[in-house]
Amino acid sequence: MNETILIVEDERKFASLIEDYLKQANFTPFCLYNGLEVSAWVRTHSVDLIILDLMLPGRDGMEVCRELRSFTGVPIIMLTARVEEIDRVLGLEMGADDYICKPCSPREVLARVKAVLRRTSPSPAQYKRGGLVLDELCNKAILHGHDLELTAVEFKLLSFLAANPGRISSRDQLMERIYPDQRIVNDRTIDSHIMKLRKKIAEVAPDEELVHSVYGLGYKFEEKSGRS
Ligand code: CA
Repeated sequence: MNETILIVEDERKFASLIEDYLKQANFTPFCLYNGLEVSAWVRTHSVDLIILDLMLPGRDGMEVCRELRSFTGVPIIMLTARVEEIDRVLGLEMGADDYICKPCSPREVLARVKAVLRRTSPSPAQYKRGGLVLDELCNKAILHGHDLELTAVEFKLLSFLAANPGRISSRDQLMERIYPDQRIVNDRTIDSHIMKLRKKIAEVAPDEELVHSVYGLGYKFEEKSGRS
């Protein structure tokens, strides 16, 4: 394995406990203890996953996460003791990939790290579907040369649908893909993300409907012109 995992957590004892666990599991962990240092570190190092505590000195985890998402799609697991923040953490605004509620055991953290890596890394980094280029490394979707400027969630939806062209995915399947534990969201969440996604596609290519809704069943990706 040997993936590099960045741990951002100011409780040093807990951070070094996680560090030890990750080392034993053949990961290469690195610890930061202040929110202000994170972006600069991530820009200058190659990192495969970030464990990010919400409560940090310097800059809190929310801000750090938002900052990271402006330039990288690297998987982020948020650590939080504030259950009421979870919705925001995973939602549109933050785009974290998963969260762990504190207090938690290092074993739990390790299990979650493995699960998120499994989920986020099996596909090739970049692939094409007609005029659409999906870059999974930086979460970018380029349609006919234009960046669609998708949120992390919209990107996940589009890349999942595009990976299976013509196949109908139900809302449940999509929710499972985006929020594996189905802890928070309801059906409407998917619909509203899809709506925004389609709007962004329509802005770049009004005649190209890539994401189709199939009444009563769900959604599918298909490259066919909407108006011809
Ligand atoms: Ca903390």
